[in-house]
Amino acid sequence: MNYSTLIDQLVKAFQRLPGVGPRSAQRMVLYFLEKDRDGGRHLAKALAEAVEGVGQCQRCRTLSENPICHICSDPKREQNLLCVVETPADVFAVEQSSSFRGYYFVLMGHLSPIDGKGPDEIGIRELLNLVRKTEITEVILATNPTVEGEATAYYIAEQLKTSDLDDRQLKVSRIAHGIPIGGELEYIDGGTLLHSFAGRQIISDN
Ligand SMILES: [Zn+2]
Repeated sequence: MNYSTLIDQLVKAFQRLPGVGPRSAQRMVLYFLEKDRDGGRHLAKALAEAVEGVGQCQRCRTLSENPICHICSDPKREQNLLCVVETPADVFAVEQSSSFRGYYFVLMGHLSPIDGKGPDEIGIRELLNLVRKTEITEVILATNPTVEGEATAYYIAEQLKTSDLDDRQLKVSRIAHGIPIGGELEYIDGGTLLHSFAGRQIISDN
């Protein structure tokens, strides 16, 4: 079907959302235009503000509108625990499961040479610096139990072992897999995630 240019442009914009096809995009656009123009204005404003105003936390790299995110700036969290995850969505998932009360480091992906994602892109230097300048004594590797996630976890474990952190009593652990192989943290229920944290295994203990 052909809409006017403005409607067409908006339908195409909605289709960029994951899981939204042409039909649902059309439904959302017509809803705003027919029934809820105020809601549409609000959505446009909130989206524009978030896109301009949200950056990355300088410490853990998760999405944040402040230079240091609310988790990193919370002194009541467990100072010695650091959980390494792939995405900000994983931070939300772990937070919602209440399995963990330490700090995070977000890789913003995993090692993937084919896509040009190497150690620099996933922030390995920043991660080592963070461990170096804090009182972290255990790093929990909570990357996804996919082939890439496992490879990334082992790479990080090696880096932590061979870096100048040797003299530190640094434990490196990997979350246990109550999580199905090939699954992603973001879609796992809280109970399963809780088990994964409780059953985590030390993979390197200097
Ligand atoms: Zn942070």
